[in-house]
Amino acid sequence: MTHALLIRVSLAWLHLLALGLGLGGVWGRARALHDSLREPPDPRAIRRALIADAWWGIAAGLWIVTGLWRLIGGTEKGTAYYMSNHAFYAKMAFFVCILALEIWPMLMLIKWRTGKAQPHARDVGRIEVISYVECALVIAMVLAAVSMARGLGMTTGSRSDLTSDGLTGLGDSTETARHESAGDLPASKIGRPAAAIAMSGADVDVLTAEIAMPLAGIDPAKLHDSFNDLRGGGVRRHEALDMMAPRRTPIYSAAAGKVLKLFTSKAGGLMVYATDSSERFILMYAHLDRYTDGLRDEQSLSRGQLIGYVGSTGNASPNAPHLHFALARTDNVSEWWKGTPVDPLPILQRAVASTR
Ligand SMILES: [Zn+2]
Repeated sequence: MTHALLIRVSLAWLHLLALGLGLGGVWGRARALHDSLREPPDPRAIRRALIADAWWGIAAGLWIVTGLWRLIGGTEKGTAYYMSNHAFYAKMAFFVCILALEIWPMLMLIKWRTGKAQPHARDVGRIEVISYVECALVIAMVLAAVSMARGLGMTTGSRSDLTSDGLTGLGDSTETARHESAGDLPASKIGRPAAAIAMSGADVDVLTAEIAMPLAGIDPAKLHDSFNDLRGGGVRRHEALDMMAPRRTPIYSAAAGKVLKLFTSKAGGLMVYATDSSERFILMYAHLDRYTDGLRDEQSLSRGQLIGYVGSTGNASPNAPHLHFALARTDNVSEWWKGTPVDPLPILQRAVASTR
């Protein structure tokens, strides 16, 4: 286990442990305060409330330290990831509510502890109610945290800081070629560099007329163009478009044509290689959560047909599900892993603008 992984696991463990301690502590404090008001009075009940309150305090300390560490220390996703996530804001809003509610009870309990004040029935009742409200807020916070981890509330769009998945263009051609070598392709073809076919103006027109957005509800005019982003430590260009979307968002075939290959790779995860109806282009969709039922090689596709769902398979971050969409110009679609990369974004922008 690497040092960084050890820290990440420890932080996640302590952060979760704080939930158990905190919820138990604040619930126990409410129960004990309730008991202290019973007849006949139980002098030990206030003492139990103070012990439960101490656990609640320890949990709060753990939460704040581990939370800030994960947020600022970049042990999980970068700070930018959290800031782009609505579920994160909801979680923080609940947390701030709890802090604000806790100020007065905290001051009162310190007075009781130090003997500066005696527990008054009215204050005891109020702190009991506040404790129950805090319980509910902690439970709401957990819901926000789970939504956050599942990618709910993510800003849909493309953010290169979240999607630097290391996958470039049509994927790792050595990996795909190696896979093919087990199949029916002559060995002489393997590893041959892609023939550089330039995109003509006519090609652009064909593609623009054919193509549509593979995800619904995303305006390509608002997407960041990640085609020229550097990957692999700056040695390769991304040569594809990343589109952030919640996990299991439907992916629709961007053009009529057919499936060339359903492929799985280390970098791309579950992938669909397809061609358009002119068979001049390769369209590749990667990091799928799953294919739509029954999808198979050679299957013909209509534009807008459901092919699968957004996920984070391959080397995409599980916290940032997205569709990696690549286009390439080719003169031989049987070599589906080769081609001249084409930036999908300007083509999609033009295609969508022309339908308005
Ligand atoms: Zn990508």
